[in-house]
Amino acid sequence: MHELSITEGILKTVLPAAEQGGAKRILEIRLRIGEFADVIPECIQSYLDVIAEGTIAEGAKIVAETVPSTARCRSCGFLGHIDHRLAKCPDCGSTDFELLTGREFSVEEIACE
Ligand SMILES: [Zn+2]
Repeated sequence: MHELSITEGILKTVLPAAEQGGAKRILEIRLRIGEFADVIPECIQSYLDVIAEGTIAEGAKIVAETVPSTARCRSCGFLGHIDHRLAKCPDCGSTDFELLTGREFSVEEIACE
């Protein structure tokens, strides 16, 4: 369950930032998650609900934006979107592809009050 350490990382990022900005509460944490990043926003939300208790991030809502994948197939030269559930080239079926985007993970923005 690597989402737990990811969630701890998010908290370590957003808490000092929000406190520095004089926030009383963090309402929303916006994330950018690549399709291939293997991170489930719902898991982050459940962990956050637990570990943010007693901090200003308690009750904060996770809002995730999915970054679609772009990949280049090494077998046929296909360039485009590859479904992360299939993880193979839609043209030739090869699994030998280079992922150009889709592994992103970042905290984009936080909404405070
Ligand atoms: Zn291909």
